[in-house]
Amino acid sequence: AKASFGEMICYYQSEMDEAVRTRRQIAADLRYAVERQELRLLYQPQHAVQTGELVGYEVLVRWVHGTRGMISPMDFIPIAEETGDILAIGEWVLREAAMAAAQWDNGLKVAVNLSPVQLQQPDLVRRITEILLESGLPPKRLELEITESAIISDKLQALHMLRQIKALGISIAMDDFGTGYSSLDTLHSFPFDKIKIDKSFLMQSSTSPQAAAILRAVLALGRSLKIPVLAEGVETPEQLELLLSEGCAEGQGYLYGRPQPLEADGAPLGLGATG
Ligand code: C2E
Ligand code: CA
Ligand code: CA
Ligand code: CA
Repeated sequence: AKASFGEMICYYQSEMDEAVRTRRQIAADLRYAVERQELRLLYQPQHAVQTGELVGYEVLVRWVHGTRGMISPMDFIPIAEETGDILAIGEWVLREAAMAAAQWDNGLKVAVNLSPVQLQQPDLVRRITEILLESGLPPKRLELEITESAIISDKLQALHMLRQIKALGISIAMDDFGTGYSSLDTLHSFPFDKIKIDKSFLMQSSTSPQAAAILRAVLALGRSLKIPVLAEGVETPEQLELLLSEGCAEGQGYLYGRPQPLEADGAPLGLGATG
């Protein structure tokens, strides 16, 4: 039998109530996720495209919830940004990653995602400085990845903060370039050390001439601005071939390696740790 309009409204209403309740529960549990040590870090390799050489790792957070199991950052970072818990989470991620990377024996870089909310924290620079001192990680081995939405809300404040971070010797990558709020204006207002082109472009490049054209244009832009471009989402040899022939600097994706936990010795897969 066909549901009446009224019945359908009721149905959607209860589905919505359910979604709201789940979100509220996740937000409540998230407050304790750091204390309960439920967060885990995975490390995904970044490679120089032309030589194949490993150059660093991006750190990606996971939440292993007591009853819900593994929760994707896409499902809890936005909630944490709303509740403000991202400040504690972001600081935990940075500290863990810095402590781990300080032990690697080959001086590779570690790239950490910085939420727009963290960038509005007045004492962010002091907190980062403390973590560097505590961990002993040289600032040149740390890269912070920020999306352009981080800059859009209060541009002057954000750029001021980024300049201070950069003055510490930390490098700054623009994440997800080509999506959301990306504008050329931001690129020229701040000296980014790297542009990460969003994975959607490479992933669609074989089926969409437009996506391939945008990818090429971003690579050309990086070349003329002298900013190295990293392509995300490298999954196939064909995609790598395209990046090779277009002179792309760096790549990251399943073809090189999936995000992995550290091994027992504290180093990422295939890397040794010092003593
Ligand atoms: P992102 O910074 O753009 O990270 C790249 C995402 O692409 C990761 O998803 C990674 O697992 C995925 N990926 C990497 N290579 C491939 C590939 O070859 N193919 C495909 N299909 N996907 C690939 P993940 O780990 O689910 O993270 C999602 C987003 O959550 C990240 O996007 C980032 O915005 C956010 N995030 C993750 N960890 C943190 C964190 O510690 N702090 C903050 N603020 N955000 C984080
Ligand atoms: Ca990122
Ligand atoms: Ca990205
Ligand atoms: Ca993203």
